[in-house]
Amino acid sequence: MLPRVRAAVAQLVAGLGAGAGAEPPAEPGGGDGGSPVSPSFCRPAFLQLSPEELRRADDHTGRAVQSPRDGRRRLPWSTGYAEVINAGKSQHNEDQACCEVVFVERRPSPRGRLPSRGKGFYFHYWALFDGHAGSGAAVMASKRLHLHICEQLRELVDILQDPSPPPICLPPETRAGLDDGEVPNNTMPRFHLEKAVSHESLVIGAIENAFKHMDEQIERERASQRLSGGCCALAAVYLMGKFYVANAGDSRAIIIRNGEIIPMSREFTPETERQRLQFLAFLRPELLGKEFTHLEFPRRIQPKELGKKMLYRDQNMNGWAYKKIEEDDLKFPLIYGEGKKARVMATIGVTRGLGDHDLKVFSSNIHIKPFLSCFPEVRVYDLTQYEHCPDDVLVLGTDGLWDVTNDKEVAGVVMEVLTGYEPNDPCRYTMVAQELVVRSRGMLKERGWRLANDKLGSGDDISVFVIPLGGPGNYT
Ligand code: MG
Repeated sequence: MLPRVRAAVAQLVAGLGAGAGAEPPAEPGGGDGGSPVSPSFCRPAFLQLSPEELRRADDHTGRAVQSPRDGRRRLPWSTGYAEVINAGKSQHNEDQACCEVVFVERRPSPRGRLPSRGKGFYFHYWALFDGHAGSGAAVMASKRLHLHICEQLRELVDILQDPSPPPICLPPETRAGLDDGEVPNNTMPRFHLEKAVSHESLVIGAIENAFKHMDEQIERERASQRLSGGCCALAAVYLMGKFYVANAGDSRAIIIRNGEIIPMSREFTPETERQRLQFLAFLRPELLGKEFTHLEFPRRIQPKELGKKMLYRDQNMNGWAYKKIEEDDLKFPLIYGEGKKARVMATIGVTRGLGDHDLKVFSSNIHIKPFLSCFPEVRVYDLTQYEHCPDDVLVLGTDGLWDVTNDKEVAGVVMEVLTGYEPNDPCRYTMVAQELVVRSRGMLKERGWRLANDKLGSGDDISVFVIPLGGPGNYT
């Protein structure tokens, strides 16, 4: 193994995590002006933590679960939320969360006339950000991503509010030339090359572009704001009867409906994205810095094995085949390790997310960012297609939850806890979120945090939203 790769692996084994970076500076809007806790620590604004509560939230020993308190502002739809800090793997809680109702205002017409149709629409928004190598990117994304989504949707106000299907999608520069509400009378001949796409596809495209713009903002401002690290991002947008769940990273969303589990995301890791990464390395071998090979082998190859045959697979293969070992095959594999230990270039365990622009292979000048994608996969769930009851929920969780609690166990907790509360009790979803966090964290025993079955509890930061899909007060 090459010395610097060996050093990177040693760093990982020592639990230092992905990428090195100084702790970021104080974040605007975080914490409390009078709080003596570290300025790099802040929690979601909707928790409204007092300085004392903020200190408790930052305590790795007690690991107190945090939720919006009774009597304070309730989250939209009576959404439940709970979080807990890690068991010491990083100085502060690097997860962040955001919950907002956002108004998308129609752009003023270029000729200054009043809009002839509605002025805009609202969307509901919930998001979790799981930071690594510092909390700077996660904090910035938690404060900005919904604004980027809003900005992208502004282009679509007229189209989305037009009830006549199918929509004719005119580019903004074309629409800018029309009066408000004016419909081109020669639409088909003039715009016959425009593809008729669904409203749904346009919203998906807007969310995808918002992630890209968010990533670019982090890149632009990382020096002036001294932002370090990156983050996974999982966002749920409710708009006009549909949920759009966008995931970039290893957080997860599931719907539990009448006891049935409906996956709303998939994780993006070196294992799940192996072929995309290998293909990029195959096309641009210079990104590997002459130290890595894009081929995958079942184990590390020793120099004495040169000329022998070994199983391998490349960017085109799902199965395995034999090849004769050559000099190049002795390089460290682009993807190495299994499960949660799988890493890209021995450095990072997630392959999509925001930030990480300065992330390099340890002690080298090899950049990781080209292999990471900021684009989410967006899944759509139409709420109008099914009559939901108050026990139907969308659960969003960071990997701290899912590492120790599987989908079925989460569904079991949801049903068990909700049964104990009246269907119209607005606190019931907070109780579910708290229970999910407590059961995944475990209880502190002599041998650390332990689950009910005595297995190791999650030592990671854990953040959970529980969003009711049916019941009074929703969809407004
Ligand atoms: Mg995590």
